Amino acid sequence: MCRHAAWLGAPRTLASLIHGPEHGLLRQSYAPRLQRHGTVNADGFGMGWYDAARPEPVRYRRSVPIWTDANLPALAQIGRSGCLLAAIRSATVGMPIEESATAPFADGPWLLSHNGRVAREVVRGLARDAESACDSAWLAAAVFTRRRAGLPLGDALAEVVTRAGAEDPGARLNLLACDGASIAATVWGDTLHLHLDDGVLVASEPLDDRSGWQAVPDRKLVLASPDGVCIQPL
Ligand code: GLN
Repeated sequence: MCRHAAWLGAPRTLASLIHGPEHGLLRQSYAPRLQRHGTVNADGFGMGWYDAARPEPVRYRRSVPIWTDANLPALAQIGRSGCLLAAIRSATVGMPIEESATAPFADGPWLLSHNGRVAREVVRGLARDAESACDSAWLAAAVFTRRRAGLPLGDALAEVVTRAGAEDPGARLNLLACDGASIAATVWGDTLHLHLDDGVLVASEPLDDRSGWQAVPDRKLVLASPDGVCIQPL
């Protein structure tokens, strides 16, 4: 199961999710502490951030282990934004290892990452097409289709997760999405944690040992905006 993290608040660098914290995504790629499925996340990584120079987020993703990209530390130090998302991947058996199967998936202003797995025939019923055969790419396409049809981001996540979860009871469907001004995340079968200070950090597992991290219970939808954070049942 992969790991992901996002930030909404005062502008920060991507390094604040990846290289800076003791248990940031770089460390979690080879030594995650709370991962329930898989032991390393070496099948790729990606990150996305927002910049006033572009209407859409900037995205960088690769299908190699995050520790092998020697250009990343400098890039992560200058990628700076009030809304960030990053992910590391442990591919589910049978899924392709390629850039197009790697989070964050993107469409217009939206970025999305998935921790988990879902049956191929279920997820293919939720969207018309996806950029990769990977289950996560299909989930992202399903969310983006609903968002484009006008559903708020949280509602789009909730509908996709509850439908996929009903049709595949073994599915694990932790989704994390953002649009530059808000974050929405689901907890369905894997861990998710929150930390609030001058913004909100949402992460599969705590990025450091500071006090204040709270675990979100299973089957919940987390919505974070500048107005605050709310947690709803799914
Ligand atoms: N099923 C997804 C993939 O193969 C996510 C995997 C995961 O969460 N480990 O990329």
